[in-house]
Amino acid sequence: MIPIATDYTRAASLDEALAALRDGAKPIAGGQSLIPLMKLRLAAPEALVDLGGLDELRGIRREGDSFVIGAMTRHRDLAESDELRAGCHVIAEAASGVGSPAVRNRGTIGGSLAHADPHADLPAALLALDGSVTVRNASGSRTIAAADLVVDYLQTSLADDELIVDVRVPADAGRSAYAKFHRRAIDWSIVGAAAVLRGDRVQVAITGLGARPVRASGFEEVVNGGGSLEDAARRAGEGTSPLDDLDGSAEYKHHLAGVLARRAVQAARER
Ligand code: FAD
Repeated sequence: MIPIATDYTRAASLDEALAALRDGAKPIAGGQSLIPLMKLRLAAPEALVDLGGLDELRGIRREGDSFVIGAMTRHRDLAESDELRAGCHVIAEAASGVGSPAVRNRGTIGGSLAHADPHADLPAALLALDGSVTVRNASGSRTIAAADLVVDYLQTSLADDELIVDVRVPADAGRSAYAKFHRRAIDWSIVGAAAVLRGDRVQVAITGLGARPVRASGFEEVVNGGGSLEDAARRAGEGTSPLDDLDGSAEYKHHLAGVLARRAVQAARER
């Protein structure tokens, strides 16, 4: 399909990108979600500003107790990062299962969080970690906690002129793991679960049960109250109403949530 005509500029600096956003342009990062939408004409931005030249938005650095991950850091770089594997494994593991190698070579953490697909893996990992993003526009910056970032189906709390510039996660997140269920290796999660063990407390977030990722608070309550993983699993999908669709019934997805939350916690405990 031939996409609509769109103005295109490649930003040479962050300020230039922010000025373009102020003037109404839409940012493009790895293009792995936006280009398919444009091909289907489900998105028709009049102007695109390409973030691909902004090296200052790439890479992982330590700042105090946090890892600061540049928004343009690719899934592949997250998956291969020794620092993340040691200190914040769940991000590396979630990124290692995103799509295919081709998708991981281009797709970025900032793009994944801003796109907010209801089956995306990284928003759930960020939520389990109680992470945050730093966003900027031409007049300033602010921090958005993971719990406040995704507000609905493909919608975030970002304003149109705001760019995610970095993602902040604990540098010593404790043991953590990501478990997803998908039909084929390159597929999106039907359901996915991120588990983080902070001391003796378990934090779990689930993707695929609704419009946005959710903390499995029923599951957390049982485990953190001394209950078994089997009992906790029955409450993993509590408070959610997944759709009956071609991937399975709501009941099946609730079952998956329990299985995957348990698997992720077990994997984290064994790590
Ligand atoms: P883009 O496509 O460039 O942009 C996506 C959206 O985010 C656009 O609205 C854009 O304007 C906005 N945006 C981009 N960067 C920023 C920023 N820094 N600040 C503000 N807004 C920004 N994802 C998964 O989680 N799990 C999967 O298993 C998975 N499988 C996939 C399989 C295939 C075949 C494909 C094509 C994609 C898959 N994805 C999957 C999606 C993939 O992770 C994308 O990389 C991601 O959703 C978007 O990242 P991007 O850098 O490509 O963003």
